[in-house]
Amino acid sequence: MTLRMYNTLTRKKEEFVPLEPGKVKMYVCGPTVYNYIHIGNGRPVIFFDVVRRFLESQNYEVTYITNFTDVDDKMIRKAEEMAVTVPELAETFIAAFLEDIQTLGVHDATLNPRVTENIQEIIEFIAALVEKGFAYEARGDVYYRTTKFAEYGKLSHQNLEELQYGIRIEVDDRKENPQDFVLWKAAKPGEIYWDSPWGQGRPGWHIECSAMVRKYLGETIDIHGGGQDLTFPHHECEIAQTEAVTGHPMANYWLHNAFLNIDNEKMSKSLGNGILIRDLVKQIKPEVFRFFMLSAHYRNPLNFSDESLKQAANALERIQNANDNLKHRLATASITGEIEAAHTERVAAIASQFVEKMNDDFNTPDAITAVFDLVAEANLYLQQERVNAAALRMFLDQLQVFDQTLGILSKQADELLDEEIEQLIVDRTEARKSKNWARADEIRDLLTEKGIFLEDTPQGIRWRRK
Ligand code: AMP
Ligand code: ZN
Repeated sequence: MTLRMYNTLTRKKEEFVPLEPGKVKMYVCGPTVYNYIHIGNGRPVIFFDVVRRFLESQNYEVTYITNFTDVDDKMIRKAEEMAVTVPELAETFIAAFLEDIQTLGVHDATLNPRVTENIQEIIEFIAALVEKGFAYEARGDVYYRTTKFAEYGKLSHQNLEELQYGIRIEVDDRKENPQDFVLWKAAKPGEIYWDSPWGQGRPGWHIECSAMVRKYLGETIDIHGGGQDLTFPHHECEIAQTEAVTGHPMANYWLHNAFLNIDNEKMSKSLGNGILIRDLVKQIKPEVFRFFMLSAHYRNPLNFSDESLKQAANALERIQNANDNLKHRLATASITGEIEAAHTERVAAIASQFVEKMNDDFNTPDAITAVFDLVAEANLYLQQERVNAAALRMFLDQLQVFDQTLGILSKQADELLDEEIEQLIVDRTEARKSKNWARADEIRDLLTEKGIFLEDTPQGIRWRRK
C-alpha cells in the first residue's frame, strides 16, 4: 500500500516519496495573530493535524512546523485600535490560538516560530535576493522582481501575462511591474520597525515562510500546506523567493484544503456570519466539530449548518456508544481464551481498509466508513450473551488505532458513567452471592483503578468518586 497525495504543483495525485526514508518535513502556514480564530480557520488546523497523525501512525517521524505572523499591517492597525503594542497583541492571540487548537484536540507542533524572532534570517534572505538580482530597493521598500523568475506562476498555473492582466492596478511608482510583491516595507512614523540595509522597516508577508522553512527544515521539504486561498499569491511568492536563492524545489508536495462555508455562503466580515471556535465549543463538543470537518474530503468545499452538525453529532454518538459499550462489557466478560479467527480476520480487513483510504489522498470520509464497519462488527458481537474479553479488547484497540489518526473519541471516554458504575456494583453483588470471589475482586479492582470508592452501609453499597 503506498501513500498518494494530490499535489497542487502538478495537479496530480502522486506517490509520496519522502526526502529521507521514514522522515517527513512538513510546514503549514499559520495564522496572523490579531484575532480569535473562526471555524473556517479550523479546517486547515484539523486537516493537517490528521495528515500528521496519520503519517505518524505509519511510522514516519514527522517534523511539523507552523508559524505565527506576529507583525504585519493588520497587526499594527489592530494594536492601535486596542491601544496595546504589537507584541502585546501577539501574546494575547497566540495564547488564544494555542488554547483553541488544544480544545480541538490538535497535537502540538514541533515548533511554532514567529516572524519577530526571525528578523535577522529574513533580512539575510532578502539581501541574498537583492544580490542575485531577484529583488530591488525602492525608497526604503524592497520588491521581488517577478519577471526575473521564469517559473513564477507555476503553482497556481498562471503565466505572467495572465497575472499582470488580473492584477488590480495600483498607483505605485516604486514597483517595476504591478505583479512584483513587497519583501521589506519601510516603516511609517510611529510604526514598529527593525533596522535593515534598506533602512527602518518590517518584512512583507511572504518572505517569513521562505526564511523559516529554510532555517527550521532546510532547503527542500516534503510537504507544504495551507488553505487553498494561499496558493496564490502567498505560496507562489514563497516558491519564487526560496527557489531563486537555493536553486532547489521548496517543497515536493503542495497540499491545499478547500473552504468551509456557512449555510452555503462564504464566511465573510461583510456578511457577519463568522463563528469563532471558542464560541462554537460552548455549544457543541469539540469532537463533533472534528468529526464534521473530517466527514468531507479536504479538497471539497464543506458546508457548516445546524443540520450538518446534528448529523455529525448523531454519527459520532454511534461510534462513542460502541466504544463505551465495549468497555462496559469488558468489566464482566466471561469467556477467556483465543478470539475466533473470523473476528480477527474481519478486524484486520477493516484496519487495512482504513489505511488504504487514508493512503488515497487522505480520504477521511471513506476512512470513517471503515470505522463504522468496525462499529457494526463490534455491535453484532456485543449482542452475544457471553463475550470474550480478548475480543472486546481487540475491537477497543482497533478503535483506538483509528482514533490516533482522527482524534474524534471523547477524551472522557475512560471515565465510567454513573450507570456503568451502578451496573458494575450490581454485577459484583451477584458475583459475591454466587461465591465468584475472583470476579467480585476483579470488579472492585477496576472500580478502584477508575477512582471509585465503595462503602458498605446498612442501606447497601454506596459509591463515590475520588
Ligand atoms: P486567515 O484567517 O485568512 O489568515 O487564514 C488562516 C488559514 O485559514 C489559512 O490557511 C486560510 O486558508 C484558512 N482559512 C481561512 N478561512 C477559511 C475557510 N472559510 N475555510 C477553510 N480554510 C480557511
Ligand atoms: Zn506561508
